Amino acid sequence: MTKLAFLDQELQALREQGQFIDIRTIESAMGAWIQVDGKRVLNLCANNYLGFANHPLLKAAAANAISEYGVGPAAVRSIAGTQKLHLELEEKLAQFKRVEAAISFQSGFVTNQAVIPTLSGAGDILFSDELNHASIIDGSRLSKAKTVRYKHNDPADLALQIQNEKEVRRRFIITDGVFSMDGDVAPLQEIFEIAEKYEAITIVDDAHGEGVLGEAGRGVADHFGLHGKIDIEIGTMSKAFGVVGGYASGAKKIIDYLRQRARPFLFSSAVTPADVAACIAALDILLASGELVEKLWANTKYFKEKMRELGFDLGQSTTPIVPVMIGDTAKAHALSKQLFEHGLFAMAITFPTVPRGKERLRVMMSATHAVEDLNFAISAFEKAGRELEVIA
Ligand code: PMP
Repeated sequence: MTKLAFLDQELQALREQGQFIDIRTIESAMGAWIQVDGKRVLNLCANNYLGFANHPLLKAAAANAISEYGVGPAAVRSIAGTQKLHLELEEKLAQFKRVEAAISFQSGFVTNQAVIPTLSGAGDILFSDELNHASIIDGSRLSKAKTVRYKHNDPADLALQIQNEKEVRRRFIITDGVFSMDGDVAPLQEIFEIAEKYEAITIVDDAHGEGVLGEAGRGVADHFGLHGKIDIEIGTMSKAFGVVGGYASGAKKIIDYLRQRARPFLFSSAVTPADVAACIAALDILLASGELVEKLWANTKYFKEKMRELGFDLGQSTTPIVPVMIGDTAKAHALSKQLFEHGLFAMAITFPTVPRGKERLRVMMSATHAVEDLNFAISAFEKAGRELEVIA
């Protein structure tokens, strides 16, 4: 088979460049401690911010939904795949986000591919933060609109880029709410003011903001008090909500239009009743109490303080995403490996996911961590950090 030989070369090149990803296997349920490749380790990698991925109420809701509705919708949403549960989830999401309406999709990634090319088109410009998530970049590529990148979290540069582009039908400003690799937050108030001035439509991807920021985890718009001012909030059910799926929320007419025109809604099957029921249960918990979100933030504050005291550089993060900056590919991998030996699961993030020189370990906080777990993590970091001379 010579026609596929190029793939041997590509795979070899990835190995030689240190970019080949060795994918670890999780052998237990998701939680603070998990079994990875035969070893029990403290989990600092998951987006399971609130512990919903293995929550008894979510599991019970999923099990009930299976016995009542079966395991799959067997259709796309617009033909026969819209079940009562999908509509219940969408109404609850709108209530939670304090907006008029919401539409659910199969994932956060798919939601960006649905929303961006459906709302924008030829003659439009998408002003996009240079560090936006891959799904925003791919969603933008599917659109006939032109993309203009502005400097990361830099409203002055955004305004400049808008001023430079005179020939335009409609303007869109697109940003992550919380940036997934650095844990910093977009300056949404300033972005909103610029959007007002130039009549730009704003799209915020709140994947790492919901369940984390705002009242009981209502997200980044709630955090800034910008309800009804950010036009479209995109989110995922796969991180704080612990399940799978995505959604877009905002004014009813936007959501009505997406139901008519968004291609993943029209041409890809709906998520299963079990997934949807578990998402509804997660929302019910957050609508009743912000306790888990408070625990997440208490853990974050404690861990960051102790890590900074030890001399670790935690970058620009103001959220439970904690980058432990290393600045060297080999050293970042070595630290991750050493920590694994010490019983800690924290993955290295290197080029091309982050720029060269910005290699790091990305530590994710969770409400599932007890203080003893955090102390365990901190002393493992101290030991491995000294061994590898990351800290003095
Ligand atoms: N947007 C952002 C900002 C993300 O971090 C992610 C998850 N990596 C996604 C979208 C995709 O979400 P999902 O996993 O639900 O496809």
